[in-house]
Amino acid sequence: MKDYFRLLKFLKPHSGILGLAFICTVFSTIFDGITLSMIVPVTDKIMTKKSIIFAEKLPPFIQNLISYINSIQPDNFLRILVFLIPALFILKGFFNFFQDYFMSNIGQRVVKDIRNDIYFKLQDLSLEYYTSRRTGEIVSRITNDVMQVENAVSYGVKDLIYQICQIILFTFLIFFMYFKLAIFLIIMMGLMAWPMFKIGRLLKKVSRQLQEKMADINSLLFETVSGARIVKAFCMEKYEVAKFKTQNKEFYKIMMKLIKRTLALGPLTEIIGVFFAIIIFYFAGRDVIQDKLSFGVFAFFLTSVFQLIKPFRKLANVHSINQRAIAAGTRIFEVLEADVKIKDTGSAVNLPIPNNEIRFENVWFKYEDENILKEINFNIGVGKVLAIVGPSGAGKSTLVDLIPRFYDPYKGRIIIDNIDIKDVKIESLRRQIGIVTQETILFNDSVKGNISYGHPEIDEIKIIEAAKKANAYDFIQNLPQGLDTVIGDRGVKLSGGERQRIAIARAILKDPPILILDEATSQLDSESERLVQEALSILMKGRTVFVIAHRLSTVVSADQIIVLERGIIIERGNHQQLIQKQGLYSRLYEMQSL
Ligand code: ATP
Repeated sequence: MKDYFRLLKFLKPHSGILGLAFICTVFSTIFDGITLSMIVPVTDKIMTKKSIIFAEKLPPFIQNLISYINSIQPDNFLRILVFLIPALFILKGFFNFFQDYFMSNIGQRVVKDIRNDIYFKLQDLSLEYYTSRRTGEIVSRITNDVMQVENAVSYGVKDLIYQICQIILFTFLIFFMYFKLAIFLIIMMGLMAWPMFKIGRLLKKVSRQLQEKMADINSLLFETVSGARIVKAFCMEKYEVAKFKTQNKEFYKIMMKLIKRTLALGPLTEIIGVFFAIIIFYFAGRDVIQDKLSFGVFAFFLTSVFQLIKPFRKLANVHSINQRAIAAGTRIFEVLEADVKIKDTGSAVNLPIPNNEIRFENVWFKYEDENILKEINFNIGVGKVLAIVGPSGAGKSTLVDLIPRFYDPYKGRIIIDNIDIKDVKIESLRRQIGIVTQETILFNDSVKGNISYGHPEIDEIKIIEAAKKANAYDFIQNLPQGLDTVIGDRGVKLSGGERQRIAIARAILKDPPILILDEATSQLDSESERLVQEALSILMKGRTVFVIAHRLSTVVSADQIIVLERGIIIERGNHQQLIQKQGLYSRLYEMQSL
């Protein structure tokens, strides 16, 4: 129940519309009762041409109304009904429409809010959140899980209000008409509610399994779609199809389990209801035979009993929808309540442009249990180039990831001009850092949009200038729509060298004082390599550069080189000094595979 109320929290901002929906529901229910009660005069006055007789003593004003109706001639009354019945149905339809409209509107608003909240939160979460989860899983929460909540809000809450109003109405009518039999009704309601709650609990468990399976399928889809090239290269299509089929079959099995339980609820409540309706039918029927009750009142009474069963059946369905929404809601709240590990402190200040040095002081870092970086100490003057070399897996990328605070060290400090980067506003820190990685991340946008990413308002002239400096303008001009050409998901429509030069143009445009460069290891042809190299030299000029170096020319000209092995700096100095040491660096240099 706590989970359900937590979910209802999303309704709070829309309480105005919810109030309107509630008013429409109440009126729609009242008109339901009035239209149904027309059975009494239609049967007693028109069909059997007798008088209306109630078994119970009624309040005086209803008694007076019945006496008045009884005094009207049947053909006069028929003429009244011809106008009254359509008018009642029009009013009922009017309130029904607005009740549905307002509730659907709230459903869509809630979904919009949840999606925005999750997306906002995702932007806020640290990189660690993304690296420890599958992309498909994250996407599934924002799509599939949110849809389940929409169902619960649009249909679940609507039906919950509407059906409860119906139960109140018909219980009231039945008590009012036949107080003696009301006790049966109370037992009946209790018996119908019991299986609902029993099965409901199981539903929640199965629903959670279902949402998790959907997330698995989404993850698999995401991996195989984005890795289509590798799947084809390794002729793994059949393997991937088999894997997908297995996941899909499991989803089907869980879904059928859920369907079986949901479907069982409806007939079960109906059977209990009908059983009691028959008892009531017997006693009320006896009263009709003994002329204690008119036929019209009997028909109205019996219809009310059956009308009371219907909302119970519907409520069972609502319960199932709600259980699914609660399961989905739990997964949504896991994202919304996830801890933002890297955030500004209350006293964070803006980082001034560095003018002295950047220093690592006894920095230790681990992703999980194992230390990836140990006792890292170095400093680099502003405007200098620091090359980081070492074997694969030594921790080079991890080290540079600490500078923009993608991760925080668990021990030690990173200082820029005597300010610990943990004490500055993250945005002001990241604005001063440009990153060009091996894996150039481009978006499915125009070339212009990709170069000016982060500067949407910038002048096109500046974009062209940056593209020229990055040796990218010539090939951009040859693209079908020049700067406006859309380059496909992750820039798939461009070559590796072209993608790199766009990323370099992006960094040139950002013009950051600090630059992090992860040189590409992938082999480019010599012309492309020359163009990229030239662009990088222009980009590096006048900046403090951290470069994970793979090119000899970059390492040789670096002001300082640190050699990492298993997370420890084992050598440091410039090229000459390190060659003379005859250690790991000189061995790597000799192999020319830094
Ligand atoms: P390469 O030259 O191959 O890119 P590297 O020197 O840059 O390697 P890192 O990417 O920093 O090495 O990785 C250092 C170690 O940390 C590796 O053992 C790697 O398996 C581990 N590692 C990297 N990222 C994560 C992560 N998100 N979670 C857990 N371990 C990680």
